[in-house]
Amino acid sequence: MAEQKATNIVWHQGAVTRADRERLSGHRSATVWFTGLSGSGKSTIAVALEKALWERGVHAFVLDGDNVRHGLNKNLGFSPADRTENIRRIGEVAKLFTDAGIIALTAFISPYRADRDQVRALMQPGDFVEVMVACPLEVCEQRDVKGLYQKARAGQIPEFTGISAPYEPPLRPEITLRTDAQDVEESVRQVLSYLEQRGIVPRR
Ligand code: ADP
Repeated sequence: MAEQKATNIVWHQGAVTRADRERLSGHRSATVWFTGLSGSGKSTIAVALEKALWERGVHAFVLDGDNVRHGLNKNLGFSPADRTENIRRIGEVAKLFTDAGIIALTAFISPYRADRDQVRALMQPGDFVEVMVACPLEVCEQRDVKGLYQKARAGQIPEFTGISAPYEPPLRPEITLRTDAQDVEESVRQVLSYLEQRGIVPRR
């Protein structure tokens, strides 16, 4: 847990509740947290899901690893401590989105189970939907979308998840997608149907 540095701060309650927001938008909110190896398909699925939700009139927003590292988390690297802080901040941002009535879709490797569990603990029960984007390392490495595996194998990227840094899969994810065996559309349908079953988005 990050240390609380400021003192004399008091939470200021708003006059518009989350339920008010949900009534206005016609859907509930949550954080859909994709986790998995680089190249497993987190961003691709998150972006496709965002579009599918948008087409249904559901407010959703993708928080993506590389993008966040350009701004909010530009001062963080890939050491274990920085990875933990990276996920802590993203968790807080995802929580803000969720409280604002928007479905947050996060696409971060988030390799440490404890870090993801911290984010889960931050949220109200049911708000954190953990999605294991499962794909064998060999397949991710074959895809090598950004050429990073090749670099990591050549020793040019230290602490690369799956090669020289650990990945800890979730023990009880709400959803598992097997991207070596199902296409993007299938994965999107699977998450949508979970969100419908939970009553987070209306059925069509
Ligand atoms: P990540 O965000 O997990 O690092 P990306 O989404 O950036 O992964 O890259 C995954 C790559 O794998 C994309 O080029 C995507 O087109 C490709 N891909 C191939 N098959 C699938 C699938 N079934 N599901 C998701 N992505 C797939």
